[in-house]
Amino acid sequence: MFLEPRVGTNREAPRRGWIEVVCGSMFSGKTEELIRRLNRATIARQRVEIFKPALDTRYHAHDVVSHNANSIRSTPVALAQEILLMTSGCDVVGIDEAQFFDESLIEVCVQLANRGTRVIVAGLDMDYAGKPFGPVPALMAVAEYVTKVHAVCVCCGELASYSFRIAASEDKILLGETDSYEARCRPCFIEGMKEKSPPARVAARHETL
Ligand code: ADP
Ligand code: MG
Repeated sequence: MFLEPRVGTNREAPRRGWIEVVCGSMFSGKTEELIRRLNRATIARQRVEIFKPALDTRYHAHDVVSHNANSIRSTPVALAQEILLMTSGCDVVGIDEAQFFDESLIEVCVQLANRGTRVIVAGLDMDYAGKPFGPVPALMAVAEYVTKVHAVCVCCGELASYSFRIAASEDKILLGETDSYEARCRPCFIEGMKEKSPPARVAARHETL
């Protein structure tokens, strides 16, 4: 369980900012954990703002919504830089679905933290191919605190770190839910990827025939 380094409202103390990253696969509880931390900051009477990428309207136009239907009011933004303009005087800034922003999100988070803001960023660390996703890996590098959460593998029940795409699309971004993705552990992810693509050797031999 993540313990907040600061939950009080001591306005005398110098403002100290930092970056927290919550990452993992789809269905791993990133949004739940983000909402939990932001709710606690609100209880501590801190000024909290939440943002999500404007392109992600899967569950709600404005709210950040978890798969177990927890939600919190948020502001959708098209560009990460907009966050800087809307957060003066904020104690805590939450950002969900960080993988959908471009690399400029890293500098935005660093600037917020340097200003004295606690920044909590949630996002997918890997895409459907198991490759590092957007600005999340670099955010993990510059963050003070990184929490990797895990889903349950739908094939075997072990801890899952991968978002396996069931849908046929090969676009890097495919907004979807349980109809398009499954949480899988490493062996079940590898197995699924093998089933999707026939072995290269067989394909090569086929070409020479
Ligand atoms: P994320 O933001 O990481 O996609 P959420 O916080 O929105 O995840 O949702 C987590 C919730 O998803 C869990 O509490 C659980 O109710 C639900 N869930 C659905 N499928 C799974 C799964 N395979 N493993 C774990 N939780 C799952
Ligand atoms: Mg989420």
